[in-house]
Amino acid sequence: MLKTTTFICETCGKISDVGYIYNEIGNFKVYQVRKYKTLYLHLGVLLQGCLFIYNNVNIYLDKVVRYKISIHHTVMHLVNAMFKRVLNIKLVNKGFFINSKTLTFDFNNYKNLSNRTLFIIEQLLNNEFITSTIILKKQTSKQLKKNIQLNLVVIGNEGSFSIEICNGMHIKTTRTIGCFCIVSDKTISKGRRRIVALTNKNAIHYVLKNLLIIKNISYNIKQNIKNIENNIKNILNKQKIYLDYLKHLKQKKRKQIIKMLLDQTFYIFDYKILFTKIKLDSKKDLLFIINKIATKLVKKSIIILYGLKTHFINVFIKVTKDCLKLFTISCENLKNFFKTKQTIICITYHDLSYIKTCIKSFSICFTKTVKTIIQNILIKYK
Ligand SMILES: [Zn+2]
Repeated sequence: MLKTTTFICETCGKISDVGYIYNEIGNFKVYQVRKYKTLYLHLGVLLQGCLFIYNNVNIYLDKVVRYKISIHHTVMHLVNAMFKRVLNIKLVNKGFFINSKTLTFDFNNYKNLSNRTLFIIEQLLNNEFITSTIILKKQTSKQLKKNIQLNLVVIGNEGSFSIEICNGMHIKTTRTIGCFCIVSDKTISKGRRRIVALTNKNAIHYVLKNLLIIKNISYNIKQNIKNIENNIKNILNKQKIYLDYLKHLKQKKRKQIIKMLLDQTFYIFDYKILFTKIKLDSKKDLLFIINKIATKLVKKSIIILYGLKTHFINVFIKVTKDCLKLFTISCENLKNFFKTKQTIICITYHDLSYIKTCIKSFSICFTKTVKTIIQNILIKYK
């Protein structure tokens, strides 16, 4: 806490300076400066030694960071004005956040901005940076009936680009901004969009890095960089055709499997039983098939399908409503059913149970045994 400071304090819209507070016995790194009543609060980390109350201290202000922040602050004026012009809407600035690396700009807009629109904004701004200068005019506020000095920021020839009241830090000419590019544009809440942009070396680095990615893509797909956009569109179209065909084949295969499984059903008394091994890639496919089969077997039916994996077995059991009493499916019952003492992971949803158990425990439970078990249960039930 200091009585006076050369650091700029953080106030609405203004970013505080960064730097160091030091003397012979201590060194303190300052990240943020705020006004606290009549004093100045410096937030940061003590790097070395210690600083005592009433000690005299020196201040080192990081002028490079201050300069970069003043560049970004100035860019904000231009961005604000350019978005208003290009989008032709009553643009409401919903806040901007700047630091020495990036600038973030929030504004009101319900629509997504196309890459083309963003490109136009970037191009116009980059042109403006070469031609515009900034003039600061001091003006005394009359509206507030107080003698407050306000700075009028005039950008472009006699304010042709923008005129705004602002007491922030500005650069003298936009030429020092160098280059501007938008790195992201997204909706952050209803009617509020956020633009994140870079300037100068950071912008150039970003553009070059992305150019390298495009060059690599062009090399990998063996196509000229000029035609890359159309070529990628063609590749995506072809991919869609193949995926549709693959989907069609999958559906056909599913239908065949369902037919094949239905042919394998057998009767024990008047109960329809389906107990068989099934080979499928995904659990989702298996569930789909079971549900399809269940629509065909509506009464007195028991479906048990199992799929072998390297170390475990997935077993799916589905019974019709009239068999629910017969198969009160719980881990304990299933352990008895499969004659195993091994761990069984069992998940039950109404009339469908999914079991995961080890191959060892299941291998003793051959088709024949299961058939006998089902038969015994049915006899008991009768
Ligand atoms: Zn300003």
